Amino acid sequence: MAITITKQNSLWKSVLSYIDKKLSKDRHTFDALYSELSLHSIDEEKKEMVITTNSNLCKGFFSKGHENLQLLNEAIKNVTNNSYKLSFFLVEELPTKREKTNNKYTPNQNYFSNCKLNPKYTFDNFVVGSCNKDAVRASLIISENPGETFNPLFIYSKSGLGKTHLLHAVGNYYQEKFPNARVLYITMDAFIDEFVKFVTGSNDNQHFRDFFKSVDLLLVDDIQFLSNKERTGENFFYIFNSLVNNGKQIVLTSDRHPKDLKGLEDRLVSRFNSGLTMTIQPPDTETLYEILKRKITSHGLNVDNYSKDGLMFLAETFSKNVRELEGALNRLLFHTVSIQETDVVTLEDIKEAVNIMIPNSEKKKDLTEEDVIYAVANYYNLTSEQIHSKIRTAQIALSRRIAMYLCRNMLGSSFVRIGEVFQRDHSTVMTGVDKVGKEIKTDNQLASAIQDIKKALKK
Ligand code: ADP
Ligand code: MG
Repeated sequence: MAITITKQNSLWKSVLSYIDKKLSKDRHTFDALYSELSLHSIDEEKKEMVITTNSNLCKGFFSKGHENLQLLNEAIKNVTNNSYKLSFFLVEELPTKREKTNNKYTPNQNYFSNCKLNPKYTFDNFVVGSCNKDAVRASLIISENPGETFNPLFIYSKSGLGKTHLLHAVGNYYQEKFPNARVLYITMDAFIDEFVKFVTGSNDNQHFRDFFKSVDLLLVDDIQFLSNKERTGENFFYIFNSLVNNGKQIVLTSDRHPKDLKGLEDRLVSRFNSGLTMTIQPPDTETLYEILKRKITSHGLNVDNYSKDGLMFLAETFSKNVRELEGALNRLLFHTVSIQETDVVTLEDIKEAVNIMIPNSEKKKDLTEEDVIYAVANYYNLTSEQIHSKIRTAQIALSRRIAMYLCRNMLGSSFVRIGEVFQRDHSTVMTGVDKVGKEIKTDNQLASAIQDIKKALKK
């Protein structure tokens, strides 16, 4: 039985106000955790609730059964007189209406309805250091004078160094300056997905191409996934040219230099190279320390309460990838969420909180399938949940196959065991593992990505 939206809203209001009262002396926890949650849907028959949040941190806390979950359950029980099974999702993880109804192509299709600019990624909160200053400068220049100077701007780096952040920053900056302009942020994965869903089979790519005519600034993330997609590549080439010829700015990101993009037509690679190509290097410790300070402040916390040695320790330990550093910080915040505002978080507190994330030779022996999945997800900017899911977009399917391959290759897990972990039958696992084994013989990029993931796991 469905309940009305109004009823749902008022139920959630009551739940939050119950918690609010209980936490009247702990505003910080309420603001940081509970106020971030929304009730997405209720299934009265199954007694299930789907709860959404925009914060990864929050999702992690509640999904992992942290003690704050108890208070949430208690509040729901108090308001509804019932117990519900709760599942937590990031807003962007839930399917849109269109996906649910599985629409075929319709003439007025509004493509990429899932792709939105993330307002949290701005130039203001992007820390500039020698590792990224050129990429930031170029991004600012094209945001000020789009389509005039460097077109396209191509930014490449290893994973977790801020490409996606910069891309959104360009979009947000430009959108603020030109509120009526049309900014489109897409991942190459979404482009391929949308192309396959609406164009393949319908023979009508004109409508898809026309859709891009109204775009003033096109931001395309992770262009490397266009490799070996001939028809999609052709259409992308057409769209790319028509935008550039009309003076519209394009910004692309990739995990490698254009010349290293394999399985792509030469004319496309040479177009990517025709503007300005910039790279981002792994940050130095000072920059990482600054990033940590900014992130702590952005959570409404006081940096002065954190030992400088402790933060430097984090910056030195998680130095290769800002995403990993953020993961370590989130763990620290998780451990210190209930301490008093005036307490100082010491070097020892910090070491204890992130100890589990520091690989050492002892822990190496204990690697599990979940560690492998986490490392692959991290490398490709995904979550472990996405790798476990049934989603079959190119990027996720490839990451899943790599994770299966590494479980077999590094841990020696049986196909049946891997099948259990990934909830697939063992023949699917065998096919996937086999495929990766063959591909790495001819695809140097894939081989080097797998080496990097192995290195991260062995650290
Ligand atoms: P990439 O796209 O290169 O894999 P992301 O842009 O997703 O990396 O960055 C990973 C995380 O690190 C993001 O949360 C981003 O905000 C953060 N980050 C990376 N570089 C910086 C920086 N210089 N300043 C602030 N945050 C950063
Ligand atoms: Mg990215």
